[in-house]
Amino acid sequence: MNTLIFNLDIYFQCAGHCTGCFLSQEERQDNQFVDYVFQNDFFHQIKNLIEKKITEETQMLIIGFGRGNILSASDENLHQLAKLIKNIDQSIQLNKKFEISTSLIGKIDPQIKKAQILLSASSSVYFNVVINSDIISTNFWNNWRLFYQYNQNFRKKHSIIDDADILVLNINPDNLPNIHQLYQNLFINDKMILSPINVAMFPYQRYINEDDLLNINLWMKQFNEKFHEYDINYKNFLEQLNQFSIHDFSMLQNYFETNQNSYVFIDKYNQIQQGSLSIMGEIDYHRLNKKFDLKTDIKNFMKIMNKNSRCIQCEHQTSCILSGAYLVAVQNHKMKKNKVFLIGKNIQQSQESYCLNGYQEIFEYYKKKI
Ligand code: SF4
Repeated sequence: MNTLIFNLDIYFQCAGHCTGCFLSQEERQDNQFVDYVFQNDFFHQIKNLIEKKITEETQMLIIGFGRGNILSASDENLHQLAKLIKNIDQSIQLNKKFEISTSLIGKIDPQIKKAQILLSASSSVYFNVVINSDIISTNFWNNWRLFYQYNQNFRKKHSIIDDADILVLNINPDNLPNIHQLYQNLFINDKMILSPINVAMFPYQRYINEDDLLNINLWMKQFNEKFHEYDINYKNFLEQLNQFSIHDFSMLQNYFETNQNSYVFIDKYNQIQQGSLSIMGEIDYHRLNKKFDLKTDIKNFMKIMNKNSRCIQCEHQTSCILSGAYLVAVQNHKMKKNKVFLIGKNIQQSQESYCLNGYQEIFEYYKKKI
């Protein structure tokens, strides 16, 4: 891997309710930045950490500041964050991206102004605009287009060529977004916004039945057909993944280690947590386990796969494991077992013969294309 990613949990306030959100209700009400980020020695701490992690192969450094709606923070905090970004930008000589999380929930004008505080800090600041896929309100999309245009104008004025803020689409299986509408929402005056799109389909907190899973598989297929020319996270992820050739278990271990070495998560207590990039986005295992209490080991998933005729015949088992998509399947299997325990044998007896996470079509498509 030649991209080194740091993710810092520095702010949590957000008025949204995305299905895949890893934050607690209490955290989402907290509108203060964490203390450590503004301590005098933090810049040196992060700089040292980055320098230790950089290898000869490192070509790109991404530093994510999350994970609430950072544009709802105070101007004072944002100026402090801008200073930190500027210091890192000037001291690390690598291609860089600073990715700032926002949900754009709230009044748009103040958020546009606050965005400019951060854009002024570096030409490499981008926003990860997280969209709850439940949201179909015209108002939200008007706000997104306005935000995009302001940022684009700001960057043009400062001769910054790349203006691609990122849309993060949090998928709710109960309310899959209308693909045609989604596509239409990405136009400004007949010109398409070519913003990168991250599809985030994290494990769900309820049992996803066979019909839901078939719908998710179909939705993913249709989404991919419509958006395949876009810069999409799963496409980029599979492109990287296909460079690895995996023939045995030790290579599998090697892949996981390489992947995990390229990611550093710093939690709200300024502690480093284990994490990795997945087809769904970045995952920190600490929060994943806290929220879902999942058995993440691969042998456990193999047992589940061996009971599902679709999985047994699936050509993409390795991709499913390496990409982290298997975590959705493991969670769903666990929820099914709980449901069987609660309501009886009916579901238990049904033979599983469908993709358990919705990614099979995507694996198939990109196997051919890349
Ligand atoms: S992609 Fe779907 S069908 Fe293939 S192994 Fe994974 S869960 Fe099973």
